Amino acid sequence: MKQNNKDSKKIKKVGLGNGCPHYKKCGGCQLQNMTYDEQLSFKQAKTIRLLGRFCHIEEIIGMRQPEHYRNKVQAAFGMTRGGKIISGVYQSSSHNIVCVDNCRLEDRKADRIIVTIRKMLGDFKMLPYNEDRKTGFLRHVLVKRGFATGEIMVVLVTSTPVFKNKNAFISKLLEEHPEITTIVQNINNANTSLVLGESEKVLYGKGYITDILCGCKFKISAKSFYQINPVQTEKLYNTAIEYADLKGDETVIDAYCGIGTIGMVAAKNAGSVVGVELNKDAVKDAIVNAKLNEMKNIYFYNDDAGKFMVEMAKAGEKADVVFMDPPRAGSDINFLSSVVRLAPKKIVYISCNPETQARDLAYLVKNGYQCKKIQPVDMFPHTAHVETVVLLSQRRPDTHIVS
Ligand code: SAH
Repeated sequence: MKQNNKDSKKIKKVGLGNGCPHYKKCGGCQLQNMTYDEQLSFKQAKTIRLLGRFCHIEEIIGMRQPEHYRNKVQAAFGMTRGGKIISGVYQSSSHNIVCVDNCRLEDRKADRIIVTIRKMLGDFKMLPYNEDRKTGFLRHVLVKRGFATGEIMVVLVTSTPVFKNKNAFISKLLEEHPEITTIVQNINNANTSLVLGESEKVLYGKGYITDILCGCKFKISAKSFYQINPVQTEKLYNTAIEYADLKGDETVIDAYCGIGTIGMVAAKNAGSVVGVELNKDAVKDAIVNAKLNEMKNIYFYNDDAGKFMVEMAKAGEKADVVFMDPPRAGSDINFLSSVVRLAPKKIVYISCNPETQARDLAYLVKNGYQCKKIQPVDMFPHTAHVETVVLLSQRRPDTHIVS
C-alpha cells in the first residue's frame, strides 16, 4: 500500500499536464494532473463544501468521454517577435498568446480549421492584429459547431471591414474545409478585451447554425450564448425539467434564458413560458427558435432579468415555476426579492458558480424557500468549474415550526 502511494505520487508528479505541452502556460485545465475520477471527487467535495449546508448533494453526473467536448472554440491571433503568426489562447491573466494546434477540450474539426486559417494568413499576406500598435487585420477566429447537425460556423473577427482578397480567401477556406456551412465577418475595432464587435457581415451561407437539444431545434448566431458542452447540456436540462415536474398548465418563467433553450424544452409541458434575457441577439434567436419549433405558448423579453421581475411583481403577476440560470456573478437582489413576491411554488436554479449560488440560495432560504435537491453536473471536465441544478420549493407556513 505504502509502495502504491509512493508510486502514485511519482506518477502524478511526472504526469502533471498529462502530456499536454501547453499545460503550464495556458492554465485552462486546472485539474488535468488528476485522473477523471479524481476530478469528479474534487468537484463533488467542492459542491458539498459550498452547498452542502442547504441539503443533500446528489452524485455528480460525469462524462463518459471527457475530451474534445467544446463545440465553441475561440482563438486569438498574433505574431511572435520573430514574425511568426500564432493563434491560440491567452495565457492566464495576460494577453500573451499561447500557440495551440490542438487542445484536449476543443472540437477537433474546429481546431483544424483554425490551423488552416493561420497557415492561409501567410499565403494571403494578411497580418494578425497587433493590440499595442493597433495594426493588422485578423483579431480572432471563432468556430461554433452544431453537435447534432454537424453544421459549422466560422467567424472571422477583423479590425476593419475592408477585407482584401475576400472572395479568394473564402474559396480557399471552403476548398480546405467543405464541411463549413457558414462564414461570418465580425468587425471589432474597439480597444477591448471582448472578442466580438457590434457589426457583422455574412460572407457565406446563412450566417448562423442550427442544433438540436432535448428534441428541440435551435438557431445559434455568432453572438448569442449557447452551452459549450452539448452532451452534458442535455443531462443538465433533463435534470432541470425533471425537478420542475411540470403537469401541463403551469405559468413558467425562464430567466437569463439565452436563446430560449430551457424555456423551449419546458414549454412542451407547460401552460405558458416567459423568457427574459439581456442580450438582444440571443432574444432574436429565441423568437426564431420558438417559430422553428412551432411553440405558441412561449414569449421572450429583452430586458435585465431583475428589472423585468420587479415589474412583474409590481403588476401583481404570478408564476408557478421559475427557472433561473444567471451568469457567474449570480443573480441580484432586485431579481431575488421579486421572485419572493411572485411566490412560485418551485424555483429551479441552474448555476455555473456555486459560490454566488450559495449566496443567492441563502437569501431564498431566509425568505420562504427550502432546498429540496442539488445535482452537480460536470460541464467542463479538466477545469475546476462545476455546474449545479438546485430545486427549491416554497415552504408551507407550518413547516418551519420545529416541534
Ligand atoms: N439559460 C441559457 C443561458 C445561460 S447563460 C442556456 O442554458 O443556454 C446566462 C445568460 O444570462 C446569458 O445569455 C447572458 O446574456 C444572460 N444575462 C446576463 N446578465 C443578465 C441580466 N442582468 N438579465 C438578463 N439576462 C442576463
